[in-house]
Amino acid sequence: MTDRPFPSVFVSHGAPTIALQDSPLTAFLKGLGESLGRPDAVVCVSAHWETDAPSVLGAARPETIHDFYGFPEPLYRLRYPAPGAPDLARRVVKLLADHDIPCAVSAGRGLDHGAWIPLMLMYPKANVQVTQLSIQPDGGPAAHLALGRALVPLRKDGVVVLASGGAVHNLRHFRPGSPEVPDWARRFDDWLADAVEAGDSEALVHYRARSADGAMAHPREEHFLPLLVALGAGGEAAKGRTLHRGFMDGGLSTAAFAFE
Ligand code: ZN
Repeated sequence: MTDRPFPSVFVSHGAPTIALQDSPLTAFLKGLGESLGRPDAVVCVSAHWETDAPSVLGAARPETIHDFYGFPEPLYRLRYPAPGAPDLARRVVKLLADHDIPCAVSAGRGLDHGAWIPLMLMYPKANVQVTQLSIQPDGGPAAHLALGRALVPLRKDGVVVLASGGAVHNLRHFRPGSPEVPDWARRFDDWLADAVEAGDSEALVHYRARSADGAMAHPREEHFLPLLVALGAGGEAAKGRTLHRGFMDGGLSTAAFAFE
């Protein structure tokens, strides 16, 4: 482990098939685990755990949840037996409480595919403790920036805040295997990378007004909100660094960023 704080990281998790098929995103995520190094624990903020109010996963042995439909059968046999992080979950509750954000502990839930698929590629030995923090689709971007800001102290204590969503995510334009990227998807992906690298949190919070393609790129916000958590967890003056860019299955962005 290094002495420096870990950055917070946003990854686009693409489609579940990346767990089985080699792709540029698969290769990137495998390399990401190596380049970050092994943390003591991960707090994952996945687009696939939506709640009305923040909730953190308290399970000591979280199950692998196969929350996707119509994909090849071998995907449903994959398990990611990483240990849970109940102590870290309690600390997350405390940190959020310090920012007047109530957070419940969910003991029974497991890891959804937005968490375990990237983690399986990043840390294939499943030897890093993992907890998850939920998102609130009705909360909007500013609330998720605040959620991230509350998590800043974790980064210097050996914890990676891993936000997992999609930089461009409109499933009406999901075309399995297609290399054709719609123009609006490319435009939003470029706009996003520029705003992230400028550390322009104002533009990112108001992305629907500031970018002509924001609403098209995110008909629902759930895959975008994790990015705001990663931005917030990078700290007040955080700037983003592009780690990966690309598209798969038509207009599904695979962009990833680190914040510190
Ligand atoms: Zn997803």
